[in-house]
Amino acid sequence: MVRLMSHNKMSYLIPWWDDYVDLNYDFIDDEPTDGIKVTAHQIYDDPPYDGILVSKAKIEENKKNLRRIKKTGIHKYLEFEGPVFGDCGAYGYIKEDVPPYKTEEIGEYYHDLGFDYGVSVDHLIVKQFEEQKHKRYEITMKNAERFLDVHHSRGYEYIPVGAAQGWDTTSYKASVRELLDMGYQYIAIGGLTRSPTSTVLDVLRAIQEVLSNKEEIGVHLFGVARLSAIKEMHKLGITSFDSASHLRRAWLGAKSNYMLPDGKNYAAIRIPQTDRSPKARKILNSGRIEPEELEAMEEGCMGLMRMYERNKADIDEVLEAIVWYDSIIDAKKSHADEYLKTLKDRPWELCDCAICRDVGVEVIIFRGNNRNRRRGFHNTWVFYNQLQRILEEEDTIKQTTLKDFR
Ligand SMILES: [Zn+2]
Repeated sequence: MVRLMSHNKMSYLIPWWDDYVDLNYDFIDDEPTDGIKVTAHQIYDDPPYDGILVSKAKIEENKKNLRRIKKTGIHKYLEFEGPVFGDCGAYGYIKEDVPPYKTEEIGEYYHDLGFDYGVSVDHLIVKQFEEQKHKRYEITMKNAERFLDVHHSRGYEYIPVGAAQGWDTTSYKASVRELLDMGYQYIAIGGLTRSPTSTVLDVLRAIQEVLSNKEEIGVHLFGVARLSAIKEMHKLGITSFDSASHLRRAWLGAKSNYMLPDGKNYAAIRIPQTDRSPKARKILNSGRIEPEELEAMEEGCMGLMRMYERNKADIDEVLEAIVWYDSIIDAKKSHADEYLKTLKDRPWELCDCAICRDVGVEVIIFRGNNRNRRRGFHNTWVFYNQLQRILEEEDTIKQTTLKDFR
């Protein structure tokens, strides 16, 4: 059975990066309890994404997992009922002259593991290897052609997806045209993850000229999920896209680790574990502070945050303690302004997702996998809901315009 994505709705896929948390984590003692690990779609009643993108390069990192997936199939392994989209993970071999995968082997791999969609073996065209652009384009196109042959001759059930690569609007357009001529019903646009939104939209507009009046064609956009561009992406015929950026911003960067549905972003408050954080260890190794002293600061900060949640601590008192601890761990920059905003607005009380309701203030504390990744799941949930709202608005506009027209 192949699980299909609807072409009428723009589907959001989450890239699979082994994002697990401990289901019954003990936040007070900071200890896992029974070792049961869960990911976002096992925490939320409805998955905060429409499908999962699984890259071969990623799952191959762990040979034991790969053997397990071969045995159980990809859906069972992920405990996920929705569509699973497979690709090779071209960023993983960006520096190689040629991709490390053969088309026949990949075609069979998607089939054996039970993928719903499988992308042909592509090769990224990037500035760093500018002189190889024509060669990489040719590799991508030849592999796509062969991939479709293999898919047909072996009668695989999954949907074959032709990868498009390019270096400017003309080459992307040519690439999509070639894929359509080969007979692809689903194409995937690669290589734009790191491009500015204006460049992405320019490429999509160029591609649209080739795609116009071909509503049956599915188009996936790799690695771009910018809310500012969603409406435009939708209009330009994108039917699915993936990105982990909202998940990962939970622990990357210092200013917008926690998103709210109204578009406001907040810094998470850093209270690293003295016995686990590499920065804390460095400070302790330098001998500038005694372990007991640092531990007492850490415990004090955690205690104050929990008291603040219950309105039993004063904002100035909490801020002073966390900024002081922060300055010992990371003397380079002060996050005081961001922390003040977070403490003042208490954003964790404004979200009613299952995670925020369950763990409360812990979600805003920048500390270890169980808090940071939960915050990432929350962000993904917020993003997904924002996306649904935008798409519904678009649908309403479309319907009203049609009605007026009639
Ligand atoms: Zn939440």
